[in-house]
Amino acid sequence: MLSTQGYAAMTARTALQSFSFERREVGSHDVLITITHCGICHSDIHQARDEWGGSIFPMVPGHEIASTVAQVGSAVKKFKTADRVGVGCFVDSCRRCAPCREGLEQYCEAGMLLTYSGRDKDGQATQGGYSTQIVVDEEYVLRIPSALSPAGAAPLLCAGITTYSPLRHWGVGKYHKLAVVGLGGLGHMAVKIGTALGTEVTVLSSSEWKRKDADRLGAFAFALTSQSETFTRLQRRFDFILDTVSAPHDYNAYVSLLKTDGTLILVGAPDKPMPLEPFPLILHRRRIAGSVIGGIRETQEMLDFCAEHHIESDIEVIPIRQVNEAYERVLKGDVRFRFVIDLASLK
Ligand code: NAP
Ligand code: ZN
Ligand code: ZN
Repeated sequence: MLSTQGYAAMTARTALQSFSFERREVGSHDVLITITHCGICHSDIHQARDEWGGSIFPMVPGHEIASTVAQVGSAVKKFKTADRVGVGCFVDSCRRCAPCREGLEQYCEAGMLLTYSGRDKDGQATQGGYSTQIVVDEEYVLRIPSALSPAGAAPLLCAGITTYSPLRHWGVGKYHKLAVVGLGGLGHMAVKIGTALGTEVTVLSSSEWKRKDADRLGAFAFALTSQSETFTRLQRRFDFILDTVSAPHDYNAYVSLLKTDGTLILVGAPDKPMPLEPFPLILHRRRIAGSVIGGIRETQEMLDFCAEHHIESDIEVIPIRQVNEAYERVLKGDVRFRFVIDLASLK
């Protein structure tokens, strides 16, 4: 077994702390990855605090992993030592069901094996990227193009693909008007990727101080969700709305901003259900849909797209000892726009 250092939540109610654990030995199809950077996704906070239920403790969070290959198993074909690689939200799936065969492993019928807080085939809990190293089957490892910095690329492994995948799936492009609700880790990637796809992007935010950032990120317009005037002025304006908000909020208000046949896509994952008004949907044939991350093939496509369009995440790099403070700042919306942990600080 490979002795590994990390930071873990020992329970849902305790701060993260230093934690030693074991990784499996490098199997013939495995890649051993030295982790240099790991993003802090809001999902890490939801799960470390067991807000969705089913969390496994102790939990080393982290699924926005950027790194280099330290060692490869005897049968590994895709990677060699020193390659720059990434690992996202899952590290295995059944590989046999229809979604897996189509490259939609995130919709695996047996359930994808989460990078952390999952149960591996041997019964061991998986542990994520707030750690020095990880062992992953080569089929679930991504290649990070050399044009991207490891720190700026790390958040692409979740925030990047979670916004890229629905925009591509619904064919959002230059003839569409897109609204992005919530300008956080996911939201700022949606603005960058949506703009690169040629779409007119409007940011709907609860934070006035983000107005300038929206402009700098390439947004066409910015509107405050705290003002009722926003919801009257923008009635029936958008073809698509991508909702990235992490806390419970009223979806009905956003439905009314869609054109006929418009789609509200939920990617933000609050822990409480919300009531729906049927008539605003019925009368304009509008849709509410959801989307979770993306498959391995599409994640590689997104990384290559970001390299081609010079897109990285806007980040604040922190040493791991600041992780608990960073969690509190994410909850207050006080980050531009993603914290990334420098894992050299753990050694
Ligand atoms: P984040 O950086 O914290 O951004 C969330 C944004 O939502 C905030 O910046 C804020 O934007 C807005 N917001 C937060 N609390 C709010 C409140 N009480 N009222 C109104 N607006 C609020 O989080 P993230 O990492 O982008 O993740 C966002 C959500 O997506 C989380 O629930 C996460 O678990 C989920 N997620 C889903 C997937 C998926 O595959 N579907 C993948 C990753 C993450 P403004 O200040 O602009 O209003
Ligand atoms: Zn995430
Ligand atoms: Zn499957």
